[in-house]
Amino acid sequence: MIEFLDLKKVNNRFRKEMDEAVGRVLDSGWYLLGKESRAFEEEYKRFIGTNYCIGCANGLDALTLILRAWMEMGLLKVGDEVIVPANTYIASILAITENKLTPILVEPNPSTLQIDPDNIRRALTPSTKALMVVHLYGRCAWSEEIEEITNENRLLVIEDNAQAHGCKFGNRLTGSLGHAAAHSFYPGKNLGALGDGGAVTTNDPTLAETIRSLANYGSSQKYVFDYQGRNSRLDELQAAFLRIKLPHLVTDNERRKEIAKMYCDNIKHPDITFPSLHVNKDSHVWHLFPILSCRRDELQEYLATKGIKTLVHYPIPPHRQKCYKEWNDLSIPVTEMIHARELSLPISPVLSNEEATTVISAINSFPI
Ligand SMILES: *Cc1c(COP(=O)(O)O)cnc(C)c1O
Repeated sequence: MIEFLDLKKVNNRFRKEMDEAVGRVLDSGWYLLGKESRAFEEEYKRFIGTNYCIGCANGLDALTLILRAWMEMGLLKVGDEVIVPANTYIASILAITENKLTPILVEPNPSTLQIDPDNIRRALTPSTKALMVVHLYGRCAWSEEIEEITNENRLLVIEDNAQAHGCKFGNRLTGSLGHAAAHSFYPGKNLGALGDGGAVTTNDPTLAETIRSLANYGSSQKYVFDYQGRNSRLDELQAAFLRIKLPHLVTDNERRKEIAKMYCDNIKHPDITFPSLHVNKDSHVWHLFPILSCRRDELQEYLATKGIKTLVHYPIPPHRQKCYKEWNDLSIPVTEMIHARELSLPISPVLSNEEATTVISAINSFPI
């Protein structure tokens, strides 16, 4: 049996240090907003290359808090349009509608599956105030062209970096490219906790201060409330676990790249295509390894009979979900094509070459 992602194996590599971390937090008697979370924020902002990092409860909160802070700062108001890729995970869009902002769903480029600059231009209106860039699958979605569009139109740029910890654009990391970035430490992400966790990175001191307050009930001084805030904190245990895993992130990503290379070089089947790798190729950190097939469901079942677990990211596009009834009749064809054809193959730092080879042979033997 080849697991899609063997989290037990991923985390047991750090068993001894994690046991020690649990002891350290227990001994401290301090569970929230303490030494561990402060130290992680310092280490993570240094890694990403920004001046500020604010830990929070999860990736959705990180996205939501950034947009909310911009509203409190007067940079966004109810109804303003935020451009977002139509094929993203639902959380990107939930953060926008949660703040009563208007998501403008934009088609990705069918060969890279990343948001398409020409489609961004076409979607611009006088109400467009922000762009959410999603580094989907672990691949950088940013480009000089997108930077030009956002500068010309004075757009706020929020990066959804939930799937791309350690991904690069030139010599900068994703998460440091826009005005603010949201990170998720959900267990299955490239940098994953043993529970929920998230963070915001930014170079803007006012934004950082506003988010820190919003995430702590809207308070920067005990029992004094400046905003109608929420409770969204990264706890000490999760921060301690993340501090153990962060130094291994780059080598873990390198291992993902090796597996991705094996897949790219050796999977050969007339019914299967890969997203094009010409753009931002070396920086890709392969949170997922997506393939596209018109016979996706059949292929998934075939691989299951060979003991290989795969997942679909994602089976139903956001605009076809019940929670967004108002969009259900929209036709967004590239996005719909991706959701109909995408299949994610097993990839992780603990997948062995033998396992990868088994996956490759199984796919290549899928009857035509
Ligand atoms: C995982 C994910 C999120 C949400 O993160 P959580 O920590 O699960 O809330 C947001 N956006 C994308 C693209 C994700 O993959």
